[in-house]
Amino acid sequence: MAKIQMRTPLVEMDGDEMTRIIWDMIKKNLLLPYIDLKTEYYDLGLVTRDETDDRITVEAAEAVKKYGVGVKCATITPNAQRVEEYKLKRMYKSPNGTIRAILDGTVFRAPITLDCIKPTVRTWTKPITIARHAYGDIYKCTEYRVPSAGKAEIKFTDKDGNVTFDETVFDFDCPGVLMGMYNKDDSIQSFARACFEYALSTEQDLWFSTKDTISKKYDHTFKDIFEEIFENEYKARFEALGITYFYTLIDDAVARVIRSEGGFIWACKNYDGDVMSDMVATAFGSLAMMTSVLVSPSGNFEYEAAHGTVTRHYYKHLAGEKTSTNSMATLFAWTGALRKRAQLDDIPELVKFADDMDSAAIKTIESGFMTKDLAGICELDDVTVLNTEDFILKIREVYDGIAG
Ligand code: NAP
Ligand code: MG
Repeated sequence: MAKIQMRTPLVEMDGDEMTRIIWDMIKKNLLLPYIDLKTEYYDLGLVTRDETDDRITVEAAEAVKKYGVGVKCATITPNAQRVEEYKLKRMYKSPNGTIRAILDGTVFRAPITLDCIKPTVRTWTKPITIARHAYGDIYKCTEYRVPSAGKAEIKFTDKDGNVTFDETVFDFDCPGVLMGMYNKDDSIQSFARACFEYALSTEQDLWFSTKDTISKKYDHTFKDIFEEIFENEYKARFEALGITYFYTLIDDAVARVIRSEGGFIWACKNYDGDVMSDMVATAFGSLAMMTSVLVSPSGNFEYEAAHGTVTRHYYKHLAGEKTSTNSMATLFAWTGALRKRAQLDDIPELVKFADDMDSAAIKTIESGFMTKDLAGICELDDVTVLNTEDFILKIREVYDGIAG
């Protein structure tokens, strides 16, 4: 069979530890036999980041900006122990943080759902994607532990030195706590556009929730910015696709999410998204089944697994032991990126490859062949636990069956 041809390269960002091993196995066994894989390769492994003083990470992010689609392996964010372990020149910043700052993106997380792994919430039959605004609010706040009675005030001075706002927050008659936080219109606008773009590209409804009835300026601004961008830039395209934008209060959203059957995107402010994404991930089953994609407001896409480099398994691997590491989220990062590239370049056979490979991976697990992490939560009676490589080889066998 002739290999599928690509037009534009994917930006390929290699990574660290066990996920680097999986990365190579996926390419060798599930991609290269079928695709004439065209990538622009960036090694974001810690050794190369150190050799290049982390320039490689910046170059990789610039390449995603240039080509529009990238796929990233999990990488180590160094701490003091890693500086020692890898004899690093310095403690580099999180690669994901660096890439996010350059692409100005929003992160969307969605679980891979299976019939044999039942979500804790019985009504959920389709995945729920959380879109978290990853800027500002309490993550960039100024706090004060009020020691005694006194007056807390909030004041705004514009750039010409005029005080345009000066109010008492509270007259303390005893010790207490105090916090000031902010957000910026341009960040909220980027967040809104990333959410609308992602809803269009995945053809799912978009929900957004805040507490605007209580927070009549702060949260209401989020609501207004979303509404305005939707009306002016996205309404017609949503109608054409038959999808909807739905705004509601955060507490109403929580109740509706639990009663829903899933299959939509839930955009959340920074703190809400932090909390709700952990709840949704846990209720769907396993971290190893959580996919993640960074979408920039200008429509660049970077796909990855939500989990880390699975360090504990890597040390077993180095010691010569077989591990049973789940490659699903990393495989879906590849197929997600290939599908997006194929859609942009109009290569239907590559879209079909991505769809068939996803189906093969799901079918492999549904027919009882899986890694150890899933065996514990799967509802099948007959389960075969495979090691890391054998699981990937089994997916290949099932794919060959599907693709004929
Ligand atoms: P982790 O790599 O996600 O692993 C935590 C634990 O979750 C593992 O020890 C394993 O549990 C389980 N697990 C995660 N992924 C799995 C998979 N694919 N298959 C089977 N089990 C899986 O998180 P971590 O140990 O906290 O972090 C390790 C390194 O990853 C750190 O250096 C961190 O900086 C980095 N990290 C990178 C990213 C990223 O690049 N996006 C994200 C998070 C963390 P058991 O050990 O019980 O089997
Ligand atoms: Mg959290």
